[in-house]
Amino acid sequence: MLKPNLCYQNLAESYLFSTVAKKVSAYQAANPDKPVLRLGIGDVTLPLAPAVIEAMHGAVDEMSKKETFKGYGPEQGYPFLKESIRGYYARRGVALESDEIFISDGAKSDCGNILDLFDKDNVVLVPDPVYPVYVDTNTMAGRKIIYASANKENGFLPMPDASVDADIIYICSPNNPTGASYSKAQLEKWVEYALKKNAVILYDAAYECFVTDGAVRSIYEIENAKKCAIELCSFSKTAGFTGTRCGYTVVPEALEFSGMSLRKMWLRRQTTKFNGVSYIVQKGAAAVFTPEGEKQIAENLAYYRENAKIIADCMDECGVFYTGGKNSPYIWLECPKGMTSWEFFDYLLENIQVVGTPGSGFGKNGEGFFRLTAFGSRETTLEACKRLKTLLKK
Ligand code: PLP
Repeated sequence: MLKPNLCYQNLAESYLFSTVAKKVSAYQAANPDKPVLRLGIGDVTLPLAPAVIEAMHGAVDEMSKKETFKGYGPEQGYPFLKESIRGYYARRGVALESDEIFISDGAKSDCGNILDLFDKDNVVLVPDPVYPVYVDTNTMAGRKIIYASANKENGFLPMPDASVDADIIYICSPNNPTGASYSKAQLEKWVEYALKKNAVILYDAAYECFVTDGAVRSIYEIENAKKCAIELCSFSKTAGFTGTRCGYTVVPEALEFSGMSLRKMWLRRQTTKFNGVSYIVQKGAAAVFTPEGEKQIAENLAYYRENAKIIADCMDECGVFYTGGKNSPYIWLECPKGMTSWEFFDYLLENIQVVGTPGSGFGKNGEGFFRLTAFGSRETTLEACKRLKTLLKK
C-alpha cells in the first residue's frame, strides 16, 4: 500500500495571503466607493526592460529558423548567461568559475531542490521571522528546525550562538520580510560559525540588487565563505522576472563534506531532475547585464527605491520603529499602540483603505509587526503615505 510522505501533516497551513485577499474583497464588496491601496504585494509591477524584451524577441526569431533553432540546452544553463553572471560578480570583486554557476527557473525552486543534497538528519537553523519557504521545504523533508530569534533588540539580525549546533543555516539578506541587511562584520561571524560547526550556509541573495550603501551583496565577499556557503539568487526582483522565471545558484568547488563535492552533487541532481531554463528566457536574462540592460534596470530599481524612501520617511515622521526601507524594498514596522499584526491590518483597511502584510504570517516573532512594500506605483505609495500620516500622527 502506498505510504504518503507523512511529513506533509506537519506543515502549518498558510492562511496569510488568502486571508488578506478575503478581507480585502469583503471590504471592497461592502464599500465599493472606497478603493484600496495595495502596499502588501511582494511582486514587482514595472514591466520587463526594453533590452530584455528585444533579446527575447531575437531569441524567438532564432527558434523559427532551422539554422538557429535550439532544442534541449545544457541543464545547468547556457555558457553565455553563466559568463554574464560571472562578469557581474567579478565587477564586485568576487571571482567565480563558470561551472560553479547553475541557472534555474528561480530561487524558490532552488531553495527546495538544493535540499536533495543533504541527509534528513541535519539540524536546520532558520531565522524567525523569514521567507516561509525555508521552513516548509524542510518540514516536507522531515528535518528538525530550530530558530534564530530576529527581534527589535537585535534589529532583526540574529547572530550565531556558539552553544547552538546547526548543520544547515539559512541567511536571507537583505531580508524578506524585515528588510534588514547584514554588515560585512556580522556575516564574517556567521561564516566563522559555519566553518566551526562544519555546516553549510544557504545564503538567499534575492534582494541583493537593492543594496546601495556599499554593504554586502554576496556572501562570497566574506573571506572563506566559498568553503561553507551556497548562494541563491534571482532575476525576479533585480529585473522583474517574477513571471518570466529565471534565477541561479552558486555552488563553489571548495564545498566538500565527507569527501563529497556539493558542486558535483548539484550538477548530478540538476542533470537528472531538470532540463534547463528556456533559451528565450536565458537570452532575456543575459540582456540584463548588457550596458543598455543595466541602465534600464537601474532606472526601475531607482523607482522602487524612491518608493521605499517615501514609506521610510513617512514612518520617521510618524515616529514608528521600522527596519528596512534602505537596501530593501520592504519596510517592516512595529504596529502602533500595541496592536497585533492582524488588528493593525484591519485598522488600516477600515480607516484609510491601505493594505499591507501582517508580520505574524512570517513567524512567531513577526507578531506585532507589519510589512509594507515599495513595489507599488508612485501614486499609490504617495497617497498611502499621506493617509498613514493622517492616521498615525493622530
Ligand atoms: N527568496 C526570497 C527571500 C524571496 O522573497 C523570494 C520571492 O519573493 C524568492 C526567493 C523567490 O524568488 P523567485 O521568484 O526567483 O523564485
